Amino acid sequence: MIVAERRHLSEILKNIEPYNKVLILGCRGCVAICSTGGDREVEIIATALRIARKRQGKPLITYEATLIRQCDPEYLANLPELMKDAEAVVSLACGVGVNLIADLYPDIRVYPGVDTLFFGANTQLGVWQEKCRGCGDCIIDLTAGLCPIARCPKNLLNGPCGGSQNGKCEINPENPCIWHLIIERLTARGELDKLNEIWEPKDWRTYLGESPRKRIREDLIKNNKREG
Ligand code: SF4
Ligand code: SF4
Repeated sequence: MIVAERRHLSEILKNIEPYNKVLILGCRGCVAICSTGGDREVEIIATALRIARKRQGKPLITYEATLIRQCDPEYLANLPELMKDAEAVVSLACGVGVNLIADLYPDIRVYPGVDTLFFGANTQLGVWQEKCRGCGDCIIDLTAGLCPIARCPKNLLNGPCGGSQNGKCEINPENPCIWHLIIERLTARGELDKLNEIWEPKDWRTYLGESPRKRIREDLIKNNKREG
């Protein structure tokens, strides 16, 4: 999932300072699962903003709604209706949702209510850990499913840096050295020869080049045209 965390209330308050009526818009996708932007958080943030503004002597009216997803135009279709009495939106979706609203509705003033962090997994209650960086050219078939791009702070591709101590990363000893784990796991499987080949430098164009990246499925576009 995309992992996000709530912005400091003072930043949200600063953005909505000119407005008296604001829609707090949650998302039931990733941000709901990481307890940052679902129904419950919409209610909490709306209440916190109203209290803070009352203290400032400038009461705020909030409207609350949560969409199935904010990263899909289909679910944003009734946003203008939700906005009919509001002057601005505080979106609790990840940056994708905020960008899509800004693209589709140029007249709507939309402000982020969360900071978008990384692609991660919920490894225990209250803990999310980065597992993938969306590099666009996956190599974890060769590394026993463990990603050195996202999980080695130096993004090393041809084995460990040599600084790990007792299997822990030298940059942050709270974390395992991911290359230590990769080698341990491949050894146990009898697949260490997967690392015999020296990898060429990674082609980072699939990650950083030709930004913003786009994925096109011609078959879906054609089917859609035929059905339409
Ligand atoms: S190699 Fe790239 S796509 Fe695969 S898990 Fe790592 S960052 Fe994600
Ligand atoms: S100790 Fe391991 S995980 Fe940490 S930087 Fe070195 S190779 Fe990467």
